[in-house]
Amino acid sequence: MGENIYSKIPKVDAVLEIEDIKKLIEKTSRNLVMESIREELDGIRKSISKTTDMESLERRIAALSDSIVSRTEGKFENKFKRTVNATGVVIHTNLGRSLISKEVMDNVYDLATNYSNLEFDLETGERGSRYSHLVDMIKRITGAEDALVVNNNAAAVVLVLSAMAKGKEVITSRGELVEIGGSFRIPEVMEQSGATLVDVGATNKTHIEDYRRAVTENTGALLKVHTSNYRIVGFTESLSLEEIVALGNEASIPVIEDLGSGVLIDFSKYGLEYEPTVQDSVDAGVDVITFSGDKLLGGPQAGIIVGKSEYIKIMKKHPLNRAFRIDKFTIAALEGTMKMYLSEERAVSNIPTLKLLTQDIGEIESRAKALMEKVDGIDAHGVKVEIVDEYSQVGGGSMPLERIPTKALKLNSESLNIGKLEKGLRQLETPIITRLYKDSIYMDMRTVRDDEVDLISRGLEKAIERL
Ligand SMILES: *Cc1c(COP(=O)(O)O)cnc(C)c1O
Repeated sequence: MGENIYSKIPKVDAVLEIEDIKKLIEKTSRNLVMESIREELDGIRKSISKTTDMESLERRIAALSDSIVSRTEGKFENKFKRTVNATGVVIHTNLGRSLISKEVMDNVYDLATNYSNLEFDLETGERGSRYSHLVDMIKRITGAEDALVVNNNAAAVVLVLSAMAKGKEVITSRGELVEIGGSFRIPEVMEQSGATLVDVGATNKTHIEDYRRAVTENTGALLKVHTSNYRIVGFTESLSLEEIVALGNEASIPVIEDLGSGVLIDFSKYGLEYEPTVQDSVDAGVDVITFSGDKLLGGPQAGIIVGKSEYIKIMKKHPLNRAFRIDKFTIAALEGTMKMYLSEERAVSNIPTLKLLTQDIGEIESRAKALMEKVDGIDAHGVKVEIVDEYSQVGGGSMPLERIPTKALKLNSESLNIGKLEKGLRQLETPIITRLYKDSIYMDMRTVRDDEVDLISRGLEKAIERL
């Protein structure tokens, strides 16, 4: 009986003659299409040996070209794609951290599609430095003597410690031996850079005397790490920058600070928690400060190092600096973002991360209402929707205790599997990432743009249909 149906399976050559398949090859790649044809035909052959349902096999053969098209398109589509962030976590590391504004990206586009003066001094006509485009701006905004930019803040910390403390001891508080995630831990980074960690004090309290007692002839630096991603609350004490800088001066030992998030404005003015700024550290006299470009600063992924020229000079010449160097896209996006900080008002209204964090609750609420109106019909599918008061998070390991009031759409259902719906939303052409909590889906409207409301309502309908 099997023989019959085997003969109905088309030959590869015949499949290649189908008009849709020819078009598919032009649109994608011959190799990809061949791979899909083989997979589909193998699949059919395998099911023949397992089933007796000839009708379904015939249907499958009839739909062969459609299956090949969708299989190939699935392979050909970009795997790295935009998503809708309805989680309310503004700096979501898994969803790409900070957004860059269109205005800044237009310039990146221009620089990427044209030749540029990346390392060319237009004045002298000779070789220039890729950092020169950024240094003046960073100095102007932070007040630091000099600056350097590398790929990310983790690289910045490695470079700073390698350049300043290799073979020497670095004193750090026990309460600040943080893990940043992705196995980046201060003690391990220290080891990588060839410095020896001398941890002092206790988890909850460290006094200046603890540092002072640990100073030896072999001390290379005093390190302060901003514990941006967690808080020890209760009976605590950590050193002020002034105390640690005074000790550094007294003992002629440089002070390094890993600030984590690069905050350049006073967030408490906008109803958020006060987060130490880069300017605070520069003003306090910290010798070298490192921070991220894509956390609270709101720029591209980068590690920014600012501080005294004598130290930055050493780092500029260090071989790791070459290994960690930034590309032209980063320089362009960072220059554009930093420039906005020349006016705080412009920074807050134009840098997406700052805009999202300082957004007016009324604005979020009207977006929630707009979406609510659009998804009204899903009641009929057994999904109950309501607007609820919720809290957004800053994310990116910044301000871990901050809960920013927001409005969210809460979806639940007695008849549908809400977990499956959450997954369905993630698997849309433009995935919608939501928060699943106690059998409800929460869509936080803080991190959603007005122009995404339509996309969400259509996506939601589609995901329900596909359940
Ligand atoms: C986030 C963070 C880092 C790592 O920064 P990346 O830019 O993600 O490499 C290092 N130190 C601290 C304190 C941080 O919060």
